Amino acid sequence: MKGHILIVDDQKGVRRLLEELFKKEGWQVHVASDGKEAIEQVDALKPDMILMDMKMPNMNGLEASQKILEKHGDINIIMMTAYGEMEIVKKALDAGVKKCITKPFDIMDLRNMVNQLAFDQVS
Ligand SMILES: [Mg+2]
Repeated sequence: MKGHILIVDDQKGVRRLLEELFKKEGWQVHVASDGKEAIEQVDALKPDMILMDMKMPNMNGLEASQKILEKHGDINIIMMTAYGEMEIVKKALDAGVKKCITKPFDIMDLRNMVNQLAFDQVS
């Protein structure tokens, strides 16, 4: 068991794809479809890892990450950004987001990133 992972994306297809992948990898998977939902889930769940989309309705991934990390600074967040969002990437990393990955990405790259962060946590 690798712990709890929360997948946050407004696109159902992305949520479903990542949910399947990380279930197979042995994670307890949870999903949310926007930043507000993510914050509610984090307070109830305290996940070990969050995969956070940047562009979402209601509350975007940057704002949600900032709010989550203010309260739970130890949670690993990987943010999924669009090409060319360098300013957002910088703000995210300043807020304590551990990694950013540019969409579209190879899901194996994301898997490796998650494994590396999870490994760093225990070693
Ligand atoms: Mg989106």
